[in-house]
Amino acid sequence: MKKYNFNPGPSILPRQVIEATAKACLDFNGSGLSLMEISHRSKDFQSVMDETVALFREVLNIPEGYSVIFLGGGASLEFCMIPYNFLEKKAAYLNTGVWATKAQKEAKLFGEVVEVASSKDKNFTYIPKNFTIPADADYLHVTSNNTIYGTELLKDLDSPVPVIADMSSDIFSRPVDVSKYGMIYGGAQKNLSCAGVTFVIVKDELLGKVSRQIPTMLNYETHVKKGSMFNTPPVVPIYAALENLKWIKAQGGVKAMEKLAIERAEILYKEIDRNKLFVGTAEKEDRSRMNITFVLKDEYKDLQDEFLAFASSKGMVGIKGHRDVGGFRASCYNAMPVEGVKALVACMQEFEAAH
Ligand SMILES: *Cc1c(COP(=O)(O)O)cnc(C)c1O
Repeated sequence: MKKYNFNPGPSILPRQVIEATAKACLDFNGSGLSLMEISHRSKDFQSVMDETVALFREVLNIPEGYSVIFLGGGASLEFCMIPYNFLEKKAAYLNTGVWATKAQKEAKLFGEVVEVASSKDKNFTYIPKNFTIPADADYLHVTSNNTIYGTELLKDLDSPVPVIADMSSDIFSRPVDVSKYGMIYGGAQKNLSCAGVTFVIVKDELLGKVSRQIPTMLNYETHVKKGSMFNTPPVVPIYAALENLKWIKAQGGVKAMEKLAIERAEILYKEIDRNKLFVGTAEKEDRSRMNITFVLKDEYKDLQDEFLAFASSKGMVGIKGHRDVGGFRASCYNAMPVEGVKALVACMQEFEAAH
């Protein structure tokens, strides 16, 4: 039976990306050695790093004046590195969920934090609008896609202060106007690569401005100056990212990824809205294209385990919702074929007919 991987992260990658990475792990560039057992400073790996950065810039259309670096520690380490590097007096945070809350918590260790708006009042089912960004803040932090709640900020905000965005779960799913951001970052394991590497796109002119001392490893300048080679970078996830960027480019780039994302989301939300058993959890206007969250209507709530078992018997993997939302979540990252979403819809219809 064909399986469709709807896992929220780590998550689906194109088969050919996994195969190319596996091949490099067995024999890298015909060297007879594994990618895992060569020096990160070898000519061959340096060219992987250079090519990954170049392709990352090309595919996302990153302008001059920004650096792309690859780090360890996950998006979660960025939560403290951001205020360490950029918070002098005051920072603004938009609270749209658990990850945004965690980012904000770290900033409080370094200075004043203004929460410009929060959707906590409705369990983060929407993205707050019409909030005021304090013009004297050092930056505004946003989470563009709320992986757990299935809401997404699809707009590159206009802001009087630099915008720093956690794009862990929607990077490369749409064109982004990078010039509107001070920094964009994320863990790679949702839409770029396997776990183990974090991408950071940072505007160079923002670096080196805070008055505090920053530990070497937590200072973005260290990694920018050394081209992500200050210490040993996570070579295998970087290689997988390179293969995935090649795949994205071959599909037609982020425009093609966006078209696919819209198509998948339309098909699945249409069924959620039509099916008598289910209801979506996020406000319609803020619905995520990446993480599609839905629950059983109250009168059918006792069918929860039955639907999960049924869907699983039909090859649907990873659709159990996060404990904070319940129900179901179909994560539809770049590598999810439209066919996978159609299979899930067929499954929902068959289950509806049986009840
Ligand atoms: C998964 C996720 C994180 C956490 O990433 P780690 O790499 O595990 O630290 C942060 N933000 C968002 C939006 C996520 O989806």
